[in-house]
Amino acid sequence: MSDPVKETTGTEEAPKEEGAKEVKPVGQFRSAVRGVLSNRWAGDITLAAILALAFVLPQKEIIGKSQVINEIKRKNTNYKEDPTTGDYFCGKLAEQVPLKPLKTFTVCGSTFEAQEDFGEIAMKVSRDMEADYQKYKEGKMSGGEKMKYWAYVQKSGGEENVRCLKVNYGYRDIVLQRQIYWNSLNDEGKKAWKSDEPIIRDKHQTFVAAPPCQSYHGLGLAVDVSNWGAAEPYFWKYNIPGGSRGIYKDPWHFSRGEFERKGIKDAAKQWGWFEVCEKIPVCKKH
Ligand SMILES: [Zn+2]
Repeated sequence: MSDPVKETTGTEEAPKEEGAKEVKPVGQFRSAVRGVLSNRWAGDITLAAILALAFVLPQKEIIGKSQVINEIKRKNTNYKEDPTTGDYFCGKLAEQVPLKPLKTFTVCGSTFEAQEDFGEIAMKVSRDMEADYQKYKEGKMSGGEKMKYWAYVQKSGGEENVRCLKVNYGYRDIVLQRQIYWNSLNDEGKKAWKSDEPIIRDKHQTFVAAPPCQSYHGLGLAVDVSNWGAAEPYFWKYNIPGGSRGIYKDPWHFSRGEFERKGIKDAAKQWGWFEVCEKIPVCKKH
């Protein structure tokens, strides 16, 4: 392995990941319904329906694919449809259409979809993590190695986080991306989005999520990882810096291709990320 002690950001638990907010209202609703059904009003479907309206509708907006496509067309001048997925891509991402086929991967007990070569990297990251963890548990590390690894475990929030790669999301279609994006907007942001006014990240969003048609998750070239602090040094071995180091303020996000853009070096400087940048070929080019 590389030197995780030096390199890890040492994050503990899963950060508030992009989809987290979406689950909560449903959870509230479910527990409310469970409460209703377990007491003397059991079976009162009408009450459950009222609760559904009260809890779910104001908080979650569910819209279908054709509506998302309409929104994309209305808000973007440059877009392209991928013939295989029916998803839409905008700007630079549109140049990558049609997508290479998506493949399903299972890692650490969860399943995600990704373009094959990118998904393979995530699998390698997990295998590397697993191999090191095994070595540690079986007492096969030298004294120095063991001490470094132990420090890495502490920084990562414990052994549970270093065992393997925990992927929350790989590929996301435009409908799911739109849901997550919508959940990321505050009330003012939601109003702006509805009236097709520009969304300002720091003003309108409560967490970072790309609009539908602009996400690398749509290309199957990104994963969101819950144990990102532990995984980060392992991704670096494959030249993937991720959203870590604060560039996008979403350190759980690891992607390929996203950093092949002008301005990466400026961003690296701004966020004190220069040392990492030096290790990455696409960064050196700029
Ligand atoms: Zn992501």
